[in-house]
Amino acid sequence: MTQYHPLTIQDAISLAKKIPGHFRKDAELSCREIGDGNLNLVFHITDENGKSIIIKQALPYAKVVGESWPLSLDRARIESEALNIQHSICPDLVPQVFYSNRELAITVMEDLSDHTIMRKGLIEGTAYPLFAKHIGRFLARTLFYTSDLGMNQQEKKERVKQFINPDLCKITEDLIFEDPYRDSPNNSFSEDIRDEAEALWNDTELHLEVALLREKFLTHAEALIHGDLHTGSIFATPESTKVIDPEFAYYGPMGFDIGAVIANLLLNYSAQPGWSSDEQTLHERRERLLRMVSDVWTEFETNFRALWNEEVLDITAKTPGYQDLYVQKILRDAIGFAGCKMVRRIVGLSHVADIDTIEELAIQEQAKRTALAIGKSLIKINRNAVSIGEVIQKAEQAA
Ligand code: ADP
Ligand code: MG
Ligand code: MG
Ligand code: MG
Repeated sequence: MTQYHPLTIQDAISLAKKIPGHFRKDAELSCREIGDGNLNLVFHITDENGKSIIIKQALPYAKVVGESWPLSLDRARIESEALNIQHSICPDLVPQVFYSNRELAITVMEDLSDHTIMRKGLIEGTAYPLFAKHIGRFLARTLFYTSDLGMNQQEKKERVKQFINPDLCKITEDLIFEDPYRDSPNNSFSEDIRDEAEALWNDTELHLEVALLREKFLTHAEALIHGDLHTGSIFATPESTKVIDPEFAYYGPMGFDIGAVIANLLLNYSAQPGWSSDEQTLHERRERLLRMVSDVWTEFETNFRALWNEEVLDITAKTPGYQDLYVQKILRDAIGFAGCKMVRRIVGLSHVADIDTIEELAIQEQAKRTALAIGKSLIKINRNAVSIGEVIQKAEQAA
């Protein structure tokens, strides 16, 4: 029973009963598998009174384009350990883990079904007025407190070891930083934008920037990053934000997580002509999304600088000018990574519903071209950018 096997519904129910403090031994439990089934199983278990928990289990392979791609089960350990660290740093923004089991590759956690996956909410036009404040604080605190700025450097080195995550990092290295820029069998795009894909394969200026960003992803062990912080990894309501699914977590560049959030807001921005019923709505939603992009950065920067000023112990971190250069580096990286994340969602293996579920194909095509225009320009400006305003400007120009 403790040896690894994919759980059945019955297994999930028996397991749920054994976790102390949740269900009575004689409780009538019902269980549904609610994951998308590509990488992981997600079981939702409830009793007669509506008390509920989630059991997430990693599968030893990923199902991609009908093929099986072996994937280490160790990512379940990484996910539960990352959730625990993030929860200890931001208890209101991360689900609580109740139990985890390495052999079975499971994480048992708080049920967040009263929240909506943010990608879905944004497609439906929901406003999230507190999102930027919440995610800015999440980013600043998780990145600061897991870095050499916020923890003892020897302990940090132990953490780096704890979060070596080669299989999942390779997915990012290949699918984000490599395939979209060459004619790879892993790419996937609609024929109506073949001209755009081919332009990417021939854009040597872009290739140099992406090579430099890939190098940062491979080598810059700055902080414990989430690694997959798109709007499908965020549960939200207008009042609350919860970050889930850190199975890609490893020690990497801080800008990668910030860039992921910005990219996904801008993908939704690009897609809005497919979701807004009239010009006025389109205008309002796009303004709101750009405001969110700008506020995510500002909230991150404000919180991060405050932590630096109040919590840093090292004398070197007080060197005049150092904090400003450090923050500028994070901004530039965030802009570059945001661009890469937008491009891959249009021509690479895995797309986003914001764009791909637009019914009218001409509007869908235009949304793809808008997203690519923004993504490419962010990649090209990243090394010289000085403010988040440049991102807003590029988005407005492309729309
Ligand atoms: P994957 O790594 O396979 O993408 P996720 O952790 O993103 O798995 O979960 C997949 C889906 O399962 C989510 O989109 C959500 O619908 C559901 N889910 C995951 N965690 C929870 C949770 N704590 N509460 C409620 N639903 C959840
Ligand atoms: Mg998924
Ligand atoms: Mg997910
Ligand atoms: Mg995942």
